[in-house]
Amino acid sequence: MEESYHHKGLRRQLVDTLKVKGINDPAVLRAIGTVPRHAFMDSGFLHFSYKDQAFPIGSGQTISQPYTVAFQTQLLEVKPFEKVMEIGTGSGYQAAVLSEMKAIVYTVERQRELYLKAQRLLSELGYSMHFFYGDGYDGLPSYAPFDKILVTAAAPEVPENLLRQLRPGGILVIPVGDEVQTMLRIRRVSQDEFETSRHGSFVFVPFVKGKV
Ligand code: SAH
Repeated sequence: MEESYHHKGLRRQLVDTLKVKGINDPAVLRAIGTVPRHAFMDSGFLHFSYKDQAFPIGSGQTISQPYTVAFQTQLLEVKPFEKVMEIGTGSGYQAAVLSEMKAIVYTVERQRELYLKAQRLLSELGYSMHFFYGDGYDGLPSYAPFDKILVTAAAPEVPENLLRQLRPGGILVIPVGDEVQTMLRIRRVSQDEFETSRHGSFVFVPFVKGKV
């Protein structure tokens, strides 16, 4: 992967844009300022790598908008060495951001092509994490509980399985809704007590059952 002063400069500008839009967690801003987003882009969109927009990555999916990645990551309140499960690996960009925040990342993708591609790319870039090809609706019961769970696809409702895989005190961030989604942050206060807060509207690709 080619990395130049030009890329670094564009990343600094992207970080400034995110600050203006309200992202203020220094660890999140540092992570966005470090991950080479251009490595995750399809070749046709390379010169848009540091635009604050979502782009197609093939297989009918998208790499999330940097603002959305930063916003979800900020809501998760990731601390070093926390176990974080991401549902929807996609390009792998969000997983790299979590890894830069020193989380122990478990990432799940239902499309084999994307799973293979992201695994190859993230390993080449030196990111070490756990990759799974599977249906995120199941979560990863044998690796639970997780400190944090992040869903990066639009869910019709909050999957019970994922709530069950949060440790008490843990946080799930998930966009819920049909055409437009509300960003929910759900904290598992105790074994059977959950606290939900709402954090604005977003548009994601759908969270689909099964794997392909
Ligand atoms: N986090 C990604 C965004 C990817 S878009 C990034 O940073 O690029 C959402 C992804 O969720 C797509 O790759 C889609 O295939 C995946 N997805 C949708 N439903 C899923 C499911 N049930 N289990 C796992 N992944 C799923």
